[in-house]
Amino acid sequence: MTMVSKFIEAIKCFRQNTISPAKPTYDVFAVKFDPSVVTETVKADIRKNVGLIECIPPEYFDRIYDAAVQAEIAGGDLHALSTAILHLNIDGMTKKRAKRVALTLNSKATAVITRERQQRLGITEAIWLYSGAPCDIDPKKPQGNQDASHKAANGKRFRVAEGMFLDGKWTWPGNEDGCRCVSRSVIPALDDGRYNKL
Ligand SMILES: [Zn+2]
Repeated sequence: MTMVSKFIEAIKCFRQNTISPAKPTYDVFAVKFDPSVVTETVKADIRKNVGLIECIPPEYFDRIYDAAVQAEIAGGDLHALSTAILHLNIDGMTKKRAKRVALTLNSKATAVITRERQQRLGITEAIWLYSGAPCDIDPKKPQGNQDASHKAANGKRFRVAEGMFLDGKWTWPGNEDGCRCVSRSVIPALDDGRYNKL
C-alpha cells in the first residue's frame, strides 16, 4: 500500500467513524472520547445554555453546569446528566423534563465540540444532515418553522466557521433546542472526486 492510498484509507475510516447521519454524534465520542475536547469555549457555551433553560431558578445554575461539564467529559453521558438534574429536586422538574434538558445541553455542547474538532482538522466546510426525526423539543408543539427549515437544509453545504442561516439566524446542526441534525465534514481530497477511481 502506497503512502497516498494509506492516507486515503485513513480518511475513509475517519469519515466512517465520525460521520453518520443516522446516529447522534455523541455515539461517536462514546467509542473513544478525548476529554480535552471539552474546551473553555465548550464550557462557556454550556454555561450560557444553562442560563437559557426556562423555569429553573438561578441558584441551580452552577450545579447543573458542573453536571453538564462532567457529562460531556464522560463522552456525553445523558443518563448521568438527567439523573443529576432530577436529584436537585427543583420545583416542577419531572423525569421527562430532566431528560429533555439533558438532551438539549448535550446536543448544543456536541455542536460546539464538533465545530472545534472540524476546525482543528482544517475542515472548513460541512454538509448539513437532517436526522429524520423532527427538530422540535416536542413534535406535538412545533417550534415555528424550525423542523421544515432543517429538513430543507439536508444535504446543503455550509462553512464550519459561520454555520447556516436558518430561521433568521446563523446556526449549526444540533445547536437549536430540539434539533437532532448532525453534519458530515467535507474533506476536499474525497469530495472533489479525484480519488473516485481508486
Ligand atoms: Zn435540526
